[in-house]
Amino acid sequence: MITLGRWDARPVTISVKLNCITISLDNPKEADVFSYDYAGRLWTAFLGGIAYRRGLDGKMVAKRREAGEARERRWLDRDEALSIEERARQQVAGLYAAIQSGVAQLNTPLPPRGCTGFERAIAFDMARSQADVAAYHQVYQPVGILPPDQYMAVVLQATEGCSFNTCTFCSFYKNRPFRIKQPDEFRAHACAVKDFLGDGLSLRRTIFLGDANALVVPMPRLLPLLDVVHEVYNVAALGGLYAFLDGFSGEKKTASDYRRLAQQGLTRVYVGLESGNEDLLAFLKKPGQADDSVQAVRAMKAAGIAVGVIVLLGAGGQTYAEAHVRDTIRAINAMGLDGEDILYFSELVVDDDLPYARDAYHAGLKPLSPAERLVQGELIEHGLRFAGESPQISRYDIREFIY
Ligand code: SF4
Repeated sequence: MITLGRWDARPVTISVKLNCITISLDNPKEADVFSYDYAGRLWTAFLGGIAYRRGLDGKMVAKRREAGEARERRWLDRDEALSIEERARQQVAGLYAAIQSGVAQLNTPLPPRGCTGFERAIAFDMARSQADVAAYHQVYQPVGILPPDQYMAVVLQATEGCSFNTCTFCSFYKNRPFRIKQPDEFRAHACAVKDFLGDGLSLRRTIFLGDANALVVPMPRLLPLLDVVHEVYNVAALGGLYAFLDGFSGEKKTASDYRRLAQQGLTRVYVGLESGNEDLLAFLKKPGQADDSVQAVRAMKAAGIAVGVIVLLGAGGQTYAEAHVRDTIRAINAMGLDGEDILYFSELVVDDDLPYARDAYHAGLKPLSPAERLVQGELIEHGLRFAGESPQISRYDIREFIY
């Protein structure tokens, strides 16, 4: 429901949706816009021409784009993030007080859910925000990464860490030993996440089974964990279950395993193919072979599970570029992707402390420039052939990840 009004000569728009409340206050230059979940957490803000996004862990990213210029992105420190939350809260509190006193005129009274949204947002002051972040860290081990279409998921950590942890370009789980939770421990975690989210659960769209590759868990241990998810959450109402399956040197699931998982609500699996070239995969110390990914994707598709396939642009630099493009096209074309699937092009991000940086130095690799990485993506895309509807093709920038 949309409510329009005026406050102090400023046009006001209040959108009360089932999942969030959005409050827009026009000013002479541009509108300030704030969205909150129904626990009162700031979700997004547009303030002074800068777009902000707050994660459940309290981290906040700011993005600004000037006309004709590239977009700038900056992660705020915790004090800056708190001050943005407080600036938003003050405006929202001022507007709500004006609505209640009749100083702000609305074309229709706020619905009860709208009043609740305002009151929860106003109550979420700096102390409450800090307590919320502390509660988050009680509930979660650090959430390393999610696919971009899963940033609004409910993450449930059925496992912790990565069972491989060998890939030289990946540091997400380096200091976290892999382990599989027992059903009782996982049940306690799933309940704690639900308590933590509170009424903010309405903003969450799916359930993502973490961490890196929860689906490597053998079926006899995986199915009881999925039963726990169904005990605690309405999986269908939340849009199904999603997970990574990364690295294929371990136990392989059959098409009938995937059918069983589809019955349990598994909707899409994200597969880190990285490259179709075996030599490059070996250089990256990625477990398994490209054909393992192809076979796994085909088995999932046969079971009615969609996939998100991730390709690492720039991997192996100039040395591997031609083979990377050629064999990645071959591997993707063999997967039988369709309109249900997503193909992600993720640019290699190399920090100096990654083993990849050391290996690339010793191998004398000349890296691809950002422009060359984009061209690599276009070359791969150009070679793809799909029998029916094409999958969605998107960028995946791991530096933008926020949960
Ligand atoms: S298998 Fe995936 S999560 Fe594990 S180290 Fe490799 S890229 Fe990282």
